[in-house]
Amino acid sequence: MRTSQMLIPTLREVPAEAEVISHQLLLRAGFIRKSASGIYTYLPLAHRVLKKIMQIVREEMDHQGGQELLMPIVQPAEMWLESGRWHVYGPELFRLKDRHNRDFCLGPTHEEVITILIRGEVRSYKQLPQLLYQIQSKFRDERRPRFGLMRGREFIMKDLYSFDKDEEGLEVSYQKMHAAYTNIFTRCGVQFRPVEADSGAIGGSTTHEFMVLADSGEAAILYCSSCDYAANNEKAAIPAAGLDPSIEKRALEEEITPGQRSAEDVAKFLGITTQQVIKTMIYRTDKELVAALVRGDRDVNEIKLLNALGALTVDLASEEQVKDVSGAPLGYAGPVGIKVRIVADHEVMAMVNGISGANKVDAHLINVNPGRDFKADLIEDIRMVQAGEPCPKCGAQLQEARGIEVGQIFKLGTKYSKALGATFLDENGKEKPIVMGCYGVGVSRTMAAAIEQNHDQDGIIWPASIAPYQVIVIPVSAKDAKQMTIAEELYNELSKLGIEVVLDDRPERPGVKFKDADLIGFPLRVVVGGKATDEGVVEIRQRRSGQTDLIPISDVIKYVR
Ligand code: ATP
Ligand code: MG
Ligand code: MG
Ligand code: MG
Repeated sequence: MRTSQMLIPTLREVPAEAEVISHQLLLRAGFIRKSASGIYTYLPLAHRVLKKIMQIVREEMDHQGGQELLMPIVQPAEMWLESGRWHVYGPELFRLKDRHNRDFCLGPTHEEVITILIRGEVRSYKQLPQLLYQIQSKFRDERRPRFGLMRGREFIMKDLYSFDKDEEGLEVSYQKMHAAYTNIFTRCGVQFRPVEADSGAIGGSTTHEFMVLADSGEAAILYCSSCDYAANNEKAAIPAAGLDPSIEKRALEEEITPGQRSAEDVAKFLGITTQQVIKTMIYRTDKELVAALVRGDRDVNEIKLLNALGALTVDLASEEQVKDVSGAPLGYAGPVGIKVRIVADHEVMAMVNGISGANKVDAHLINVNPGRDFKADLIEDIRMVQAGEPCPKCGAQLQEARGIEVGQIFKLGTKYSKALGATFLDENGKEKPIVMGCYGVGVSRTMAAAIEQNHDQDGIIWPASIAPYQVIVIPVSAKDAKQMTIAEELYNELSKLGIEVVLDDRPERPGVKFKDADLIGFPLRVVVGGKATDEGVVEIRQRRSGQTDLIPISDVIKYVR
């Protein structure tokens, strides 16, 4: 392509709305433009990078036996009602109605659609395992879309779902995806770390997040340099003494997600005490709070960890009303979803029928009455592990880093197959729920994460594997017919060989062209100037190292290849 015919709207100034470097550079280098908050157009250069990442993802998925399919973005509410998630997914779910007033949503993820598909098609153990994936736009109405492509409301994800007949099969699928993800992020040229993660709303089971290490990352990671221990800080948190984490797991497995239920109902169902239920939820709350503090979350107006018991106070300056499914008000939640105030002297401020629990839609309890249901001393020594503390595996000192979650792999078990009735007949003709896993890669977020790690003051430094083009040929003076001829010839030859090359044929000053080339981040820049016409040599500069070589025109192909 010739730059004179391309849409590459570069900007000199740093756009005021962009806080992180990837957002700034994607705007400045003409890769993206905003359409609405968290919703972007990928311009031609960005589209090329995305296609490269998708191709790497495809190759690694296919290599592990993944089969690509494409599911609908628009999903009927019935599927989500059946899985139980319609009422608990909360405001992150984009909901819409058709002309007949029927409810639909835009897919934030596809467990429902794929499990219902498999339910209809798989009967026998002989049809298992199945690994099915798609690469598609996902929609999540994030509370705080930000950092450009990092946290969008529409973004591109690869999601694979595994279906196995038993736990051993799931383990094999999980390890395949672990290996595939390791290859994907290595090939994309980013430094990353798989970390053990907290399984949060899904409860208890194995999960790893793939974190690209970057100061701008929203997640905190603790890792050990003496062994392979690495965990996100939620996983590494030390639970309250006497807390039984299996309560939450059971609650979720039994499909009695606490969200919008009373602690008493949940307790009755599980045959445990109301206090145990509330304590579990408060544990989650506290972890979220501490994580929010660590993140420097601006929406948390004031959170103070007041004393060794972890008593806390929450400033509810920006309370919002929480409503139940029918729209009836349930009570108030602060920016972190908390309406339980615990003051320094451990007395709970009187509040009747409040909401307690974590900063997640499905993680609070209604009708909680502090004082009646629990006391502040329920919050014991929950706290985040800090750098310098001993590694739980080998005892060496833990280190801390920040990370961008670019992928996550997850053992779902039978949560969805049970809820949606996806069963198969085993070798003995016995009906069993299919054992599932889900595995996501943030394709568009990976593009941004690659820039966070690969840039300098002049612009992006694309890893060659995902660069939009490999080479830019720049004639110093577009007015010089001889230079233009040499540049055109080089451009044609490289193109013919299938090398991704751009010719900067604009009638711009050389400084402008060099600046743009650096900003966009072509791995190689070939400059055709006076030396080309006089001595038959061009200057080739490597974007990453800055190394510059004078190369005879006849050797350019050899150099580039
Ligand atoms: P986060 O913790 O950042 O909100 P998540 O855990 O909710 O992400 P998953 O449900 O695990 O995300 O989705 C799989 C992958 O999709 C994530 O690892 C991430 O790379 C990507 N992703 C998730 N949300 C977004 C978003 N809002 N914008 C861009 N990419 C996203
Ligand atoms: Mg999320
Ligand atoms: Mg996450
Ligand atoms: Mg995740």
